[in-house]
Amino acid sequence: MVRVPAAAGKSHPAEPAAVEAFAQIRGGGDRVPVRAPRAARSGTIRFPKEEIRMKKIDLHSHVLPDTVLDLMEKAPDADLFKAKVVRRDGKRFYARGKNQFELDPEYYSGEGKVAKMDRMKIDISYISTGPQAFCYWQKEEDAVRTVRAVNEGIAKMVDERPDRLRGMASVPMQHPDLAIAELEHAVKTYGFKGVEIATSIVGEEIASKKFRPFLKRCQDLKVSIFTHPENIGATGRLDCYYLTNLIGNPLDTTIMVANLMFSGALDELKELKFLLPHAGGFTAADIGRFQWGHGCRPDTSVDCKTPPMELLRRFWFDALAHNPKAVRFLIEQVGADRVVIGTDDPFDMGDMTPIDNIEKVPGLTDAERERIYFKNAHEFIGD
Ligand SMILES: [Zn+2]
Repeated sequence: MVRVPAAAGKSHPAEPAAVEAFAQIRGGGDRVPVRAPRAARSGTIRFPKEEIRMKKIDLHSHVLPDTVLDLMEKAPDADLFKAKVVRRDGKRFYARGKNQFELDPEYYSGEGKVAKMDRMKIDISYISTGPQAFCYWQKEEDAVRTVRAVNEGIAKMVDERPDRLRGMASVPMQHPDLAIAELEHAVKTYGFKGVEIATSIVGEEIASKKFRPFLKRCQDLKVSIFTHPENIGATGRLDCYYLTNLIGNPLDTTIMVANLMFSGALDELKELKFLLPHAGGFTAADIGRFQWGHGCRPDTSVDCKTPPMELLRRFWFDALAHNPKAVRFLIEQVGADRVVIGTDDPFDMGDMTPIDNIEKVPGLTDAERERIYFKNAHEFIGD
């Protein structure tokens, strides 16, 4: 049975033909069934033209599952997460130093996440932990306990709404052997096809030889890698105005890209795919300098034979730039076949109207829209 996605609009006159048209278009080879909203099944929703044809897939969507929050709350002495869950007025709050926020249902409940996705006009989300649960400082025993709670929690949320949610694994990168073991467990047990890791691991580059066996295992298992900056913390001139996030996060991503390129890691692992959040940081703007440097500076080509411009094709970029003109520039630089939706939901730097904002990209064509909404996501994740 072919189903239609949740519609953003409501209470429009019935248009069964539109629902039927969507069903026909969605029919062939669609491996991601989407549950029809009750209103659509009863014929009370009118789908705007572009929403009839296209589903929307979000590859950058975070959660903090109950398994993690329970561990945070019930084992505070262990201080596993260097954070606490605080209860106040019947609500739960995440608290780590000055960083505190209310834990709304989209953090921990599959149904809550889907309700938020409906408001954002998103059909499918690949959910990954917020970086609050990376915990790369942990010793082996705590690391395994924490990361297993993350992966089980994400799998449970997906089980609540398998029609709308997919999971990405988390792994203890500070212990590369354990990271490989947990990756294998997550692929085998939960069927995850993506893994989320930080853009740097406690100051170490993921391009480092230390992590190469892990990257190779990802390639062997055909697992795509979502790289995400962790809280980079106070660092001199960035220690004001939230610059650790506004500049620090995209900078950390850009440094990781440069190291993956110039180290030869991408030449060695030719099938590996990376997704970059926040429009890839400064990569699209700086790639010309990478390319030029590779040609004129011998030290940049010692380990890397392939020109950076070519290696750019190994990366996918979310459209989370908070600026439609910047997304147009991104498309021109990296190609329309490398840009995907990324909301960063539910965090404050996220985009809660991602579809409306993509529609504002100057000169967006139907072909680009199709690619950004879902085709590129399918190609990245291999789903
Ligand atoms: Zn994020």
